[in-house]
Amino acid sequence: FKRIVLASRPKGEVVPENFRLEDVPVPALKDGEILIRNHYLSLDPYMRMRMEDVKSYAAPQPIGETMIGGTVGEVIESKNPKFTVGDKVQGMLGWSEMGVSDGVMLRKLDTTHIPLSAYLGAVGMPGMTAWYGLTQIMQPKEGETIVVSAASGAVGSVVGQLAKLRGCRAVGIAGGKEKCDYVVNELGFDACIDYKAGNLPADLAKATPNGIDAVFENVGGEGFDACLARMNPFGRIALCGLIAGYDGQPMPINNVRAFLTMRLTMRGFIVSEHMELWPQGLRELGTLVAAGRLKFRESIADGLASAPDAFIGLLKGRNFGKQLVKLA
Ligand code: NDP
Repeated sequence: FKRIVLASRPKGEVVPENFRLEDVPVPALKDGEILIRNHYLSLDPYMRMRMEDVKSYAAPQPIGETMIGGTVGEVIESKNPKFTVGDKVQGMLGWSEMGVSDGVMLRKLDTTHIPLSAYLGAVGMPGMTAWYGLTQIMQPKEGETIVVSAASGAVGSVVGQLAKLRGCRAVGIAGGKEKCDYVVNELGFDACIDYKAGNLPADLAKATPNGIDAVFENVGGEGFDACLARMNPFGRIALCGLIAGYDGQPMPINNVRAFLTMRLTMRGFIVSEHMELWPQGLRELGTLVAAGRLKFRESIADGLASAPDAFIGLLKGRNFGKQLVKLA
């Protein structure tokens, strides 16, 4: 089967040559192991950070080894009593058409009411990220205004919809008219600002007439700065991502003074460090998706070989919704 390894670390922007496609033999299973055919690979912005050898919350991706990544697939052979052939499972089997697991981090999935791929999106790590930042850090009350950047994406789309369900005014920031129209018309946000249109501060002011009570920050840069200037007293900021700076772009913040004058709180978080809350969050997200009350959209690249280009596209905003690679 085929897998993709990290060939070299990026200098600035990621390029296809940072990856290498390899053929590897199917390994013989040891007792306790499970062989899985991956149906979908999740591509996520955090992978960009792992490609670098710098101090971070996790160890860097080793060169020459299978690129890290979340997967969903099907058990095709099992020497583990907890898993049988045909089980649908979610794991971290990487950029690979197949994978072997010892079962410890493998989760069995029920696809009766939830499509398999959603377990990599709204009912998986990205959905959980939205849920954590919203419920644990932003804690918005009914009637408050929240803003989320990368609003049409895997995480952002869930943040706004959960906020609406809690009675908030939800405002998104996204790149381009098509994404903004989707965020308002399909996802039900109250407004969405196209940062590429060039009037970000003025458009944000119009969309947040009562100021901003809480921000879910995915991007950094000018959108974040514009939000700071609109914050209400004791506003909360969940710092989830800074994708506009992942290739090393500088990100000056001009409105630092708002932290003082508005007594703001900002907290960064890594969703995988809060596993104790995942069952609760995933239950809420799964119920909403199964009932059709939480919508999501996917960009699906075809075949493992397309993963590097799709990943580079994700870092440039070419995806529209959760970026996946279809493998089987
Ligand atoms: P998305 O589906 O939102 O895709 C990324 C989006 O980011 C793009 O579609 C694009 O949207 C936007 N983007 C890309 N480059 C830029 C840029 N230079 N400037 C502005 N916007 C840009 O990805 P996810 O939902 O998976 O991730 C969203 C954020 O959440 C990321 O920052 C990620 O690192 C973070 N994250 C953090 C976690 C945590 O535990 N802290 C866990 C999971 C995700 P547009 O076209 O609208 O600009």
